[in-house]
Amino acid sequence: MIEETNNIQNKIELSMPVQYIKGVGPARAKVFSQLGVETLGDLLEYFPRDWNFLPDPIKINQMQPKKEAAIIAMVESIDYQSFRRQPLFEALVSDETGICRIVWFHGSYLRNQIEPGQIIFAYGKVNLYKHQIQLANPKFLILDEENSKSPEDLSGGIYPATKDLSNRQIKRIIKPVLETIDELVEEFFDKSFLKHNILISRNDAFKWIHQPPDDKKLSKAKRRLKHDELFLMQLGLALRRYKMQHFSSATACNYSDEIDSRIRKRFPFLLTEDQNNSISEIIEDMGKQIPMNRLLQGDVGSGKTVVALYAALLAIANKMQVAIMAPTEILAGQHFLSIERYLKNSQVKRTLITGGLSGKKRSELLETVKNGDIDIVIGTVALLQNDIEFQNLGLVVIDEQHKFGVEQRAELRKQTSPHCLVMTATPIPRTLAMTAFGDLDVSIISHCPPGRGKIITRRVEPENRQKAYEFIRERLRAKKQAYFVYPRITSIEQNGDIKAATDEWVNLSKNVFPEFKVELLHGQMKSEKKQEIMSEFRKGKIDALVSTVVIEVGVDVPNATIMVIEGADRFGLAQLHQLRGRIGRGEAKSYCFLFSESDNEIANSRLDVMTRTNDGFEIAESDLRLRGPGEMFSTRQHGLPDLKIANIIDDYELLVMARKNAFELVNKDPMLIKSEHKNIRKELLHKFGDTLGLADIA
Ligand code: ADP
Ligand code: MG
Repeated sequence: MIEETNNIQNKIELSMPVQYIKGVGPARAKVFSQLGVETLGDLLEYFPRDWNFLPDPIKINQMQPKKEAAIIAMVESIDYQSFRRQPLFEALVSDETGICRIVWFHGSYLRNQIEPGQIIFAYGKVNLYKHQIQLANPKFLILDEENSKSPEDLSGGIYPATKDLSNRQIKRIIKPVLETIDELVEEFFDKSFLKHNILISRNDAFKWIHQPPDDKKLSKAKRRLKHDELFLMQLGLALRRYKMQHFSSATACNYSDEIDSRIRKRFPFLLTEDQNNSISEIIEDMGKQIPMNRLLQGDVGSGKTVVALYAALLAIANKMQVAIMAPTEILAGQHFLSIERYLKNSQVKRTLITGGLSGKKRSELLETVKNGDIDIVIGTVALLQNDIEFQNLGLVVIDEQHKFGVEQRAELRKQTSPHCLVMTATPIPRTLAMTAFGDLDVSIISHCPPGRGKIITRRVEPENRQKAYEFIRERLRAKKQAYFVYPRITSIEQNGDIKAATDEWVNLSKNVFPEFKVELLHGQMKSEKKQEIMSEFRKGKIDALVSTVVIEVGVDVPNATIMVIEGADRFGLAQLHQLRGRIGRGEAKSYCFLFSESDNEIANSRLDVMTRTNDGFEIAESDLRLRGPGEMFSTRQHGLPDLKIANIIDDYELLVMARKNAFELVNKDPMLIKSEHKNIRKELLHKFGDTLGLADIA
């Protein structure tokens, strides 16, 4: 048994379980496991969360007021003054050059630690007290031979520790490992690559991240490790993309001027330059036998649907079927209607599949899809993903699926390899475009079509509620329509202060606007009922719609020019922007009123952003700043491995560089089979296993 352990210890490699590392053993291995550290490689990547740099000790007579100093000195006497307003522990210490006073406020805990005769290392800021040099509240360490504590224990990395495994213990375990680093860690790149990218060697990076000799070397270590982490992530994306392009094939769609003009005749307006550019990119993609994998990004109302419909009609002109998937039934219905509008009197056969459909009707409909009798099928993602068979599916359009990750997208297209167009109205900050959407090509519509009315956004204080209502009444009289959006469907007892749609609908329809038709719409209503209400609203038969965020995406009623958002502090910025995108769709001026009784600072900053700008990208960036990277950018949520040291927002420049390096490598050596890439390949497989579908790259 002992021998076996020894054998394993002799053969040090990254995959070795931590248990066999000197100073660990089974009990500590369990604690490490809770910290996510299973192997030696994990331990090397258990990076400090912060670092201390201690200056070299100086002599007492060299200490200067207002500067930091570290000294090693003998404790001459101690004193504890508990009667002071700030109880004070004091030590007089000396070296061969002089005497110095050290004070710790509230230092009663030191009474049984520090005693005369000890040698201590103390580090802190020097000040003058009654014309004498003193150190106040320094960091300190008792240097005693037995426990062989040393100033080193105070300096260097500070690890995320637990009560069962202290920072000092972790340091002592890692230290000897670092001495073998040259055998453990393998270099990925050649010298000229490193030089060109201003990167240090991987060995030094690991050594210095744990035990930085100084601040500069620490930064270099961080840079290298962050680069590698981002590089490996991007490599995964690049390989996925490569596989998609080379191992799955799609049907190429022919394009001609005749097809083009036939499609354009369907639109009652000239397409904008951005729409045309996106269409050109799509035509080029769909003309290949490589499946298109494109993200179409454009603010709400910028005209993405038209672009998607162009792509759909191009596929249909090539005798293929199209599936259009939306996240909700309302949205699917909406798409169906707007497509109906464009396709009136055309021979294109289209159908909407809803959740309400069942039994014979449903199976008949599915049969026609299977036979190829239907050209465009529209429905929710859930519906279309399930059991629908197509005869010849050529294009999948996925709307508003920014919450989708890399993996889910791969799932969607497993069976067939149709061309794929993902539409999103959430401006995707550039970092996400490179990570969560890093395997997609991107088309951007940045300017809305002409003829859009301005949206004026105001925050309304509670005392001005009636004024706002009167203003809205005037608009409703002028035959405009309004949305009232609430954070909840019904109110919850404890949270009586949060207004809820159902209650407020009663209030608005009975008390506030009895002369108008006010209807309720929310997610728990039957799908036919929802469709019916939306249809009435669209026709202008309903003046005001009281609703929850079910109207968040895609709903398009140009005559609706007023939006009231209650409990606006409850919504995120992206969501507020989405909601507001429901108005300002016609030529008339629109108004958005934000009600909030919150005094939460961040919530208020969000509302300020909303009143200040309508620009989706500006809002997305503000969102990022207010929220911080964590929440929005959990890479795992997007089907990518977690990042331990890099941060895709703060390390944006490195991300760009790593992405470029990764994609170049895949271009040169797609399978990473060249001997000079074997270390990279090994690490990629070791680290990500099959999460990026890499295991089959043999
Ligand atoms: P999105 O899907 O990006 O939110 P839509 O495609 O639904 O935007 O378009 C929003 C509105 O703008 C629709 O009413 C549509 O008819 C109109 N529209 C789209 N493109 C143009 C254009 N080039 N010129 C004028 N109006 C347009
Ligand atoms: Mg839309």
